[in-house]
Amino acid sequence: MKNDQARDIFRTFLKNGKNRITPERFEVLDSALNYIGHFGADDLFIIMKRNKSRVSRATVYNTLELLAQCDVLVKRNFGDNITRYESNFKKNKHDHLICMDCGRIVEFSNANIKKLQEEISKELGFDAESFSFNIFARCKDPKTCKYKKSK
Ligand SMILES: [Zn+2]
Ligand SMILES: [Zn+2]
Repeated sequence: MKNDQARDIFRTFLKNGKNRITPERFEVLDSALNYIGHFGADDLFIIMKRNKSRVSRATVYNTLELLAQCDVLVKRNFGDNITRYESNFKKNKHDHLICMDCGRIVEFSNANIKKLQEEISKELGFDAESFSFNIFARCKDPKTCKYKKSK
């Protein structure tokens, strides 16, 4: 199973960083990887509470941070100052388009964007490590836009 691989990565990371290996941290890992889509720490905390987990809010917050540090999760910022996470593990690299009216997030990938970051970095004398690319837009079709539909 794929979650087992993620667990191994996380365990090694915790050990190397002299972080405590606790069942709560692995509970957060499982819930995070089972979450479909993008979530904030509070979204995950609420779901875990609903599933009768006894994990504290602080543990959810700092475990998500650790999971991002070891690349099991990837951090996203969609322009609203809420840090969101998603699995970096089951998914291919992709970028995001966000509807400014209804908040709908569409994932896409386009090889030209990666090429462009390499070209720009090279031109400026850098080695590209990573990049983030968001498109902010508005749904054209009122039927797919929750915001336009309600008006
Ligand atoms: Zn995504
Ligand atoms: Zn929309």
